[in-house]
Amino acid sequence: MADSPFDVLVIGSGASGLAAAVSAHRAGARVAVATKGSLQSCNSAKAQGGIQAAFGEDDSPEQHAEDVWKSSHETADRRLVEILTGEAPSGIHWLEELGVEFTRENGGYRLARCGGASRRRLLQVGDRTGHAITTALREAVEGSDIHTFPKSPLAELARTENGWRARCGDHTLDATTVVLAAGGRCYRVAQERGELSTNHPGATGEVTQMAVELGAELRDFDALQYHPNGGAWPSNMQGYSIPETTRAYGAVLLNADGEEFTDSLGPRDAVSRAIFEEVEKGKGVETPDGRPAVYLDTTRIQESDANVSLPYMLRRYRAGGIDPLEERILTYPVLHYQNGGLVIDTDAETTLEGVYACGEIAGGTHGRNRMMGNSLLECVVFGRRAGKAASEKARA
Ligand SMILES: Cc1cc2nc3c(=O)[nH]c(=O)nc-3n(C[C@H](O)[C@H](O)[C@H](O)COP(=O)(O)OP(=O)(O)OC[C@H]3O[C@@H](n4cnc5c(N)ncnc54)[C@H](O)[C@@H]3O)c2cc1C
Repeated sequence: MADSPFDVLVIGSGASGLAAAVSAHRAGARVAVATKGSLQSCNSAKAQGGIQAAFGEDDSPEQHAEDVWKSSHETADRRLVEILTGEAPSGIHWLEELGVEFTRENGGYRLARCGGASRRRLLQVGDRTGHAITTALREAVEGSDIHTFPKSPLAELARTENGWRARCGDHTLDATTVVLAAGGRCYRVAQERGELSTNHPGATGEVTQMAVELGAELRDFDALQYHPNGGAWPSNMQGYSIPETTRAYGAVLLNADGEEFTDSLGPRDAVSRAIFEEVEKGKGVETPDGRPAVYLDTTRIQESDANVSLPYMLRRYRAGGIDPLEERILTYPVLHYQNGGLVIDTDAETTLEGVYACGEIAGGTHGRNRMMGNSLLECVVFGRRAGKAASEKARA
């Protein structure tokens, strides 16, 4: 027996799904969110480093778009990139209106330069940016009459006469339009490859598979991203992603001889490749449990910067007996992000009419190589677009 029908059903409760739900609700739709675990469990809440938006005096959305285009090796969908960077400042103000307090200094935002960026553009909430964003979005959902179905993983999606029917755990939910916001698949792939991953155990990718079986198109799906700086030691930090802001604030990568072997603020794929090659050349170091690694010289970070922008990372390392401001730490790339995904248009609609996709599950915005800080941004910008468009289509 199906629950009463919704206008918009959102699958997933990461930043993109929550943004889509809030936006669809504000556009007047009757909205439901069904998610695999608790509402809190997602990759978005783990994001530490920050979110990009062109607020610097020497910066512009066009410059931001140019950096995305170059970092993607000219493989991104330019229409999506222009929307991503053009709507970034208003996306930040939208988050502020929902209660996110970005770190400020000298009367403006504290902005860091991240890998592949030509300007300082990364806004932060300390080093718990994803936690702050998802908390604000979740509070907006929980403070509204949006229906939430935790512990209700999507297992089946089928077309009906008036829209879609979804089997989510014990519930059968009917909706006129559906927003797929179920994230990527790096946790599952890492398990299959016997590698470490930064991802949450819910990142397994079955929702993408369901959409493909219904006929949705994919792009750049083979392009998986390694985060250049996975924690390699101590063992409790293995699979932890050392925030890229360590490098933005002065940390550099060093080989066994203490030499810099790459531009530590290059695009992610280039930095990861340089580390793999250095280790293959025999110039890496070994962790006490025999894993490959290189050094990240975090002793070059000013204590004042670390206290403001890296407190969580410092706490975690110090709890493991290592002080990154006193000694270099060991790092190696770790499976992190699905660059490609479902093909979407500028309203975030997939090639299946009435089915939208936003966040990591969608492809095109980053092409084959995402820049740091653009994923949370994509969740907000395209989550809002998906929610609004799904609501409008459902209520037309
Ligand atoms: C450790 C870490 C640090 C990061 N740091 C940054 C950063 O600093 N800046 C940045 O921009 N990006 C960062 N990223 C990337 C970014 O956080 C994610 O790519 C982005 O938040 C993904 O959001 P999402 O909403 O698409 O997916 P997620 O946040 O992963 O949410 C997906 C949701 O879908 C649910 N789900 C999965 N399968 C099903 C199913 N079958 N049925 C129902 N629900 C399902 C999940 O439970 C979850 O609630 C980081 C990622 C990680 C892992």
